[in-house]
Amino acid sequence: MVKSENKSDAIGILGGTFDPVHFGHLRSALEVCQQLELNHVRLIPCAIPPHRQDTMASADARRLMLELAVKYVPQLLVDDRELHREGPSYTVDTLLSLREEFVDNPLFLILGTDAFRGIKSWSRWQQILQLAHIVVVQRPDETLDLQEDLQHWYQQHLAKTEDRLLSSGMIWPLKVTPLAISATQIREDLMAGKPVNFLLPESVITVIEQLGLYRSKASEI
Ligand code: ATP
Repeated sequence: MVKSENKSDAIGILGGTFDPVHFGHLRSALEVCQQLELNHVRLIPCAIPPHRQDTMASADARRLMLELAVKYVPQLLVDDRELHREGPSYTVDTLLSLREEFVDNPLFLILGTDAFRGIKSWSRWQQILQLAHIVVVQRPDETLDLQEDLQHWYQQHLAKTEDRLLSSGMIWPLKVTPLAISATQIREDLMAGKPVNFLLPESVITVIEQLGLYRSKASEI
């Protein structure tokens, strides 16, 4: 079991709606875990996404799908702290809560390039690097073109290998295997009655079928 053999105390954090979780989420989380030699990555489903419409599946269904997806993958954990919180799921509040639990551990917040480009619109965004590192996940064919002020902030905090031991404060660009899978497409395919095999784990597809999720706009458990 990697979790007990791995001496690293660094923790990765991947938030999202996971409506539903798919191999794009899972594979990139695992590759970040390996590349940065993290102890594990916590997949954190959000309750009320601040930047988007409500989810189609309920919080309980999204958590159940995540738990099934990571069941046999010791490097990935489901952390449901945002589902117990009132109000919108702001990342900075999640990091504050993780910091109370993991006082000195290096924390690595994993973001896609698009999310990173929009970070200045996030609630208390300047506090994020005080609480964690940021990992900017790029597809191998993608260039990280940023607006001038964000580029400056990025350059100022760009990490060097030895910064891995710091608990927060640096930005880590990483390349991962591109898997062009989207939860939106999966939901649309399911609503159209098309097969979604090989886009997400079979155990997740089974529970989607059992609970009748994503058949219509009103699917809930
Ligand atoms: P939707 O299509 O509903 O917007 P999504 O999968 O893009 O879903 P989330 O579930 O919120 O959105 O994604 C959680 C995190 O996973 C985000 O940081 C997102 O950038 C990342 N992510 C989503 N799809 C992929 C993918 N195919 N490869 C790598 N990372 C992904």
